Amino acid sequence: MSVVTRFPPSPTGYLHIGGARTALFSWLYAKKLGGQFILRIEDTDRERSTEESVQAIFDGMEWLGLTYDQGPFYQTKRLERYKEVIDQLLEQGDAYYCYCSRERLDNLREEQMKSGGKPKYDGHCRHKAEKVEGVNPVVRFKNPEAGEVVIKDHVRGEVTISNAELDDLIIARSDGMPTYNLTVVVDDMDMGMTHVIRGDDHLNNTPRQINIFKALGAKLPEFAHVPMILGEDGKRLSKRHGAVSVMQYADDGFLPEALLNYLVRLGWSHGDQEIFTADEMLELFDLDGINKSASSFSQDKLLWMNQEYMKQMPDADLAVRVAPYFNKAGLDVKVGPELEALVAVQKERVSTLVELVQQSLYFYQDLQGYDEKADKKQFKVGAIEPLEAMSAAIEDISDWTAQNCHDALQATVEKLEIGFGKLGLPLRVALTGATASPSLDQTMFLLGKGKTLQRI
Ligand code: GLU
Repeated sequence: MSVVTRFPPSPTGYLHIGGARTALFSWLYAKKLGGQFILRIEDTDRERSTEESVQAIFDGMEWLGLTYDQGPFYQTKRLERYKEVIDQLLEQGDAYYCYCSRERLDNLREEQMKSGGKPKYDGHCRHKAEKVEGVNPVVRFKNPEAGEVVIKDHVRGEVTISNAELDDLIIARSDGMPTYNLTVVVDDMDMGMTHVIRGDDHLNNTPRQINIFKALGAKLPEFAHVPMILGEDGKRLSKRHGAVSVMQYADDGFLPEALLNYLVRLGWSHGDQEIFTADEMLELFDLDGINKSASSFSQDKLLWMNQEYMKQMPDADLAVRVAPYFNKAGLDVKVGPELEALVAVQKERVSTLVELVQQSLYFYQDLQGYDEKADKKQFKVGAIEPLEAMSAAIEDISDWTAQNCHDALQATVEKLEIGFGKLGLPLRVALTGATASPSLDQTMFLLGKGKTLQRI
């Protein structure tokens, strides 16, 4: 049996971290087993679905490299098919028209709540369907009244729900539009889904869906309900926790492979290994390794992961990745050091591509002034002699290398018999405008002889 998995987002917002993680798990599982991964756009909620959200989903998946083998399918293009299945259920007696008014349902709910029960449709039209003229009925699924549904979940183990707890859910609204629980079953059936991997916020829907699968005589997929992601405050991850759109991470200078690695660890583990190459992820990922408890999103850990990926990446590749971020910042990389040489020095010091650019501005543009505190503290009369001596030593360097810059620094402090700080501190402020930069020899080397002399 070949594995088929899916990612079926509702296009009512951007692709967020939680969605990306379920997409990744489904993708990994299909790829690992040589199966098919399907993208399905669940756009039947026409009021809330937007073109921009569909595009945001495509962009996010593409940036993360989550390629799909089939689709994108759109549910709004399959309405005929859903209607066919609803008619089939009506015909075989597994669904019925319901004419109950909103008022009746509201009263029913109120009474049930008053007597301390769970609100639930009472099956009024199931037992005596009275056609009401002028009313467009909804269609309800006839949920079995007795027995129970057992979900064999890869994460939760066996979950048993009594049918008595489930009411007859609406599968078509009065305007004929099918509802989520119906469309998802029809699609998963038609598309031959073998594994449904999704957030555990859908666990309530699963027994209802299983009953519909059964009524249709379809083969049940296996289920894996992934626990939710919490913010560091223990609350469900939301916009409040900062960037939750996947593309925001692209804008903020994260590497997609680092985000993927972070996401795979967010809710899945393999011993205490943190860093996984793409091949390792594919080899080791397994539904049974999904954690049973909620995971907590940590921006610091993601930053750490991103830095690890930047450090491990060959300089030439990292240079290609960071170049667009220099362009976005309006910097011309041709007027400064070669990017490959720059990233070799900077990657140890920063956590994102954006930070790499921000920490390198002084290499590619004129100094925009000096840090006020550093200016006051370092540019004193006593700094003139060391800086002039350094300037002279630099003039003498004919072969511009970091090593020769280093030797010139050394020779200057020895000649003047001063501590390194007397030269190093004002020199750094002169060259970079502030007090943080790579080592001085590297900074001078990257700046080039001309700019170094000019800034001193
Ligand atoms: N469209 C649903 C959602 O975005 C899909 C849920 C499912 O995986 O069945 O939550």
